[in-house]
Amino acid sequence: MPPRPAEMTPSERRRGMRRRTSPAARVAARVAALLAAGALAGASLPAQARKGPPIIRDAEIEQLLKEYAQPILRVAGLTRQNIQVVIVNDSSFNAFVADGRRIFINAGALLDADTPNQVIGVLAHEAGHIAGGHLARLHERLASASTQSAVAMVIGLGALVAASRSGGGNYSALGQGGMAALAGPNAAVQNSVFAYMRAQEEQADRAGVRFLTASGQSAKGMYVTFKRMANQGLYQARNINPYLQTHPMPGERVAALEGMAKASPYWNAKDPPELQARHDLMGAKLFGFLASPAAVARRFPPSNNSLQAQYARAISVVRFGQPQAAQARVEALIHAQPQNPYFHELKGQMLLESGHPAEAIAPLREAVALAPNPALIQIMLGQALVASHDHAHLDEAVKVLQSALTRDPESADAFTQLAMAYGQKNDLAHADLASAEAAWARDDLKTASEIAARAKTRFPIGSPGWVRADDLSNYKPPPRQPSAKW
Ligand SMILES: [Zn+2]
Repeated sequence: MPPRPAEMTPSERRRGMRRRTSPAARVAARVAALLAAGALAGASLPAQARKGPPIIRDAEIEQLLKEYAQPILRVAGLTRQNIQVVIVNDSSFNAFVADGRRIFINAGALLDADTPNQVIGVLAHEAGHIAGGHLARLHERLASASTQSAVAMVIGLGALVAASRSGGGNYSALGQGGMAALAGPNAAVQNSVFAYMRAQEEQADRAGVRFLTASGQSAKGMYVTFKRMANQGLYQARNINPYLQTHPMPGERVAALEGMAKASPYWNAKDPPELQARHDLMGAKLFGFLASPAAVARRFPPSNNSLQAQYARAISVVRFGQPQAAQARVEALIHAQPQNPYFHELKGQMLLESGHPAEAIAPLREAVALAPNPALIQIMLGQALVASHDHAHLDEAVKVLQSALTRDPESADAFTQLAMAYGQKNDLAHADLASAEAAWARDDLKTASEIAARAKTRFPIGSPGWVRADDLSNYKPPPRQPSAKW
């Protein structure tokens, strides 16, 4: 599925609704929100216009990042945690972990990376934070910290250094709240936080290089990326780089990383050409979806006949051009790579979004059959089947949506389509239950509870549907954990 902003997972959203435990946690949450706002303010690619947290869900990119992360997570001993790589719709460079379950990486970081190895290096560093238990320890510190030192810790060394370098004056992108917070912590607290964060960054670098070496990969991409960051930090002290806020890059850290990376026997190892080709397609796709047609035409002029250039141009025409022109370009992609699931998916999406759901069904079925993890494509297929308003399609719609939910159990979109499919089948009990699940997945707990109470009256008492409706109608949110980016 082409990138589109989707909601955060329900657990992510639910955390925001829980009662908060301490002033430090409250401040930490506020500062995390400020940091997020600062990162968004720096975005220059046109964000796709829809409300909600700026997460990109896309079957092709998620699959690729999963394959990038797998060897690292395996040697890091993290396979059992089922860690997801989540793509943030933001054109600045950033990557961070906010809990032990997810590594967040900005679209900007993916677009900046020339090779898979550069992305894998960033993932290896972030995996180093998770494997080192850095977040758990940060949370312990936050729980016992005063309000102001909690602010200092969450904002991180980079921002504080920038503020002190510029006389505390003009680190404006953090906004008023950030400015006030920066004026607060005393020097002793700052120094202990500096030392603490610097030590963790160096640990994460060391762990990252170890993971790369143990999985037979070069740390060159990690070194090249962090060196570029360090140079940007030197020349753009007043420019917000969210990665530098949480990842200070003093010269000695980059030098230490260079030493470790060059000591590896895999320093000159290259990414497999097949992986590089998929990486190039990923970059073209993100650019095609996120950039303006003029920017796409500049980066991928008609003289560039590579598959990635064709992909970016096709996506741009699907988004902004005439339907006939779009169709021809998408067909050319399929002709070039008939076994590429995501080209069939693009065709299905184009037909669905231009008001031809019945014609979207065949290409989406093809994409589902070809994709290694088709959950997101199954949801789109379910949508096409429901929107075709053909009763012969409803059983298939229920089946593919339920299949998608086994892999992506918190998808509000899947539950919404499922509710419509059941509604068209006149199965009102399951339609209500699916609507309640959709509201739950959107973190609208009040609506979820109300619809679930109605669903309960439609099921036989004690049946599985009744039990689930009963759970949803009686849910009480648990207390909140503090959260921070790292
Ligand atoms: Zn780090």
